[in-house]
Amino acid sequence: MKRRICQQCGTQLRGRTDKKYCNERCRARSRYLFRKQQATNPVRLIDARLKQNRNMLSNLLSQGIHQVSKAQLQSGGFDFTFYTSIKHECPESLSIYCYDFGYSIVDDINIRIFEVTALPVLV
Ligand SMILES: [Zn+2]
Repeated sequence: MKRRICQQCGTQLRGRTDKKYCNERCRARSRYLFRKQQATNPVRLIDARLKQNRNMLSNLLSQGIHQVSKAQLQSGGFDFTFYTSIKHECPESLSIYCYDFGYSIVDDINIRIFEVTALPVLV
């Protein structure tokens, strides 16, 4: 029979076969450490920012808003330092993407929001 040990402290487990921790303290400690790790995980933090940006662009478009000021977006929590890709359409035009939504710079104040209709197929 395989020896079962506490996933937190390594103590040999007794009792139920689906038991993961030796006691409540180890279970709580493990849960605390997992949440702490999740809260500081850089990939999760970056992904949360990207999704927030994407959702803001999506929500504005769903309300029929295609052009907005950068300041308006920033005041709503949009972070211009997070994006998934950039494409130079022509020397004067730059498209910045957050997943399937994007924006281009209209002038020093405004941006134009758009949805990507044809996504590349991943293989
Ligand atoms: Zn334990």
